[in-house]
Amino acid sequence: MYSKKLMSYTLLLLMMFTFFLPAAVTQAASIDSVLGAMTSPTAASGDGGGGLLNSLFSLLFDKILGPIFNIFSGGGSSGGSSPVKITPQPGGSGTITDNGVLRGKVIVVDPGHGGNNPGATGNGSIEAANNLAVGLKLRDKLQQAGAKVYMTRETDRNVAPVGSTLGEELQARVDLAESKGADLFVSVHSNDNPDPKIAGAMTFYSSGKSSKLASEVQSALVQATGAANKGTSSATFYVLRNTTMPSILVEMGFVSNPQEAAKLNDNSYRNKVAQGVFNGLVQYFQKS
Ligand SMILES: [Zn+2]
Repeated sequence: MYSKKLMSYTLLLLMMFTFFLPAAVTQAASIDSVLGAMTSPTAASGDGGGGLLNSLFSLLFDKILGPIFNIFSGGGSSGGSSPVKITPQPGGSGTITDNGVLRGKVIVVDPGHGGNNPGATGNGSIEAANNLAVGLKLRDKLQQAGAKVYMTRETDRNVAPVGSTLGEELQARVDLAESKGADLFVSVHSNDNPDPKIAGAMTFYSSGKSSKLASEVQSALVQATGAANKGTSSATFYVLRNTTMPSILVEMGFVSNPQEAAKLNDNSYRNKVAQGVFNGLVQYFQKS
């Protein structure tokens, strides 16, 4: 009599643990396990219910209380029992591990425009200044990763001598990349459109290997900045068609869009852009 009563109370207690606690920690799988054990012929057979009790106890301690205590103690063990699975997001707004792939690589960073050519302007944002700020941040990140970086300009100036034509100005940028035997050429620009609603980042390339480079940089850039993804496209820009190494031209965003212009003027956003381009270059070298 007494033992049957005790067994009933125990079962009642177990059922309370089984049905209420799991609900609080979304251990739906454990409920299924207990129900499975209750209806399982092996648990009910043998020594008159002892198997069932053993199953319930082991489920209670191994599958329900164990995970709960793990959660309450901060989930230190990240074994398979934790209901929360955190997948690390590569890239993001943070740095990524470059694994030394940039070490010794020769990279020319080309902040577009400068000097007497401010490039696109709008909403208080000046392209030449945006391009230079991001270009310098990109240089620093690449140098920290061991790359040899050459800038076409490090101040607000023209690259070709004063009085040169636009063609000569652009050729001077190409000449630097060719004379340094660059592995990559990265030109940084800000975009402009008559429609102020248009916003987003895009990356241009001229051919072959550059297409892969453009895809890597574009996806990493969008991931790091959250900018609208306007994709990659082939283009015949002077600096792209006249360089012999893989080369891209990154249009970071539109100064003609008020929100994007404000971002392009912002130091932390400029850093995200530089980090995005950097991440893309790392991924390009890791895959090639
Ligand atoms: Zn430009």
